[in-house]
Amino acid sequence: MNEDQNLRGKTEREIRQKLLQAIFELRMPPGARLTESVLADAFDVSRTVIRLVIARMTQDGVLVKRPNGATCVASPTRSEISQILRVRRMVEPEIAGDLARSYKKLSFAPIVEHLRKEELARTSGSYGDLVRLTGEFHLHLAELSGNRFLFNLIYQLQALVCLGVVMYTNTEIACPEDEHRQIADSIMSGDDESAAELMVHHLDHVEENILSSSKQHIHFNETLKWLSGE
Ligand SMILES: [Zn+2]
Repeated sequence: MNEDQNLRGKTEREIRQKLLQAIFELRMPPGARLTESVLADAFDVSRTVIRLVIARMTQDGVLVKRPNGATCVASPTRSEISQILRVRRMVEPEIAGDLARSYKKLSFAPIVEHLRKEELARTSGSYGDLVRLTGEFHLHLAELSGNRFLFNLIYQLQALVCLGVVMYTNTEIACPEDEHRQIADSIMSGDDESAAELMVHHLDHVEENILSSSKQHIHFNETLKWLSGE
């Protein structure tokens, strides 16, 4: 039983990452309907595994259940994204400040490694990866706080903002270049005031980018073929 759970857990995670990538690259655009049987065939796994994946992603807010029972990729409005970012502005500057205040006790290796990956995705033009990674930066900070309630909150909020980024920005960067590094530098040097302030400005910039740009063209072809590839 343990072996089955481990195997299934690994598969679930891989499938979720692949689906998130498909969503962030707009191969599965907001509003697209997902069915258990088609996904099970595409990934060559049982419908039970797909059901678990869908349940988890629905909990995260990336997928939504329609009243008719259909499961679709969520399509938050600009106003909803604004509300989400308002909540994030209440919480994340506090996280950044707290981390800076305890910088001597923390290990920042995961953050440094993460910034390297972001830079790589930025220079190689892997848009889906970059969107996912820019969200994950904020998750790393929440994780460092050691507070699992904060982590769960930021997990859900950042996933929906990533969706907003792919829906509403034309530029490829919604988390402006270098801002993550500046925030990280302030935290790692113990400058709590500037870490908190930079986080506020950063979330403002993300919101400005989402609210000020026109809607991106959505393409949705060869998705299942792409999903089953590899
Ligand atoms: Zn960011």
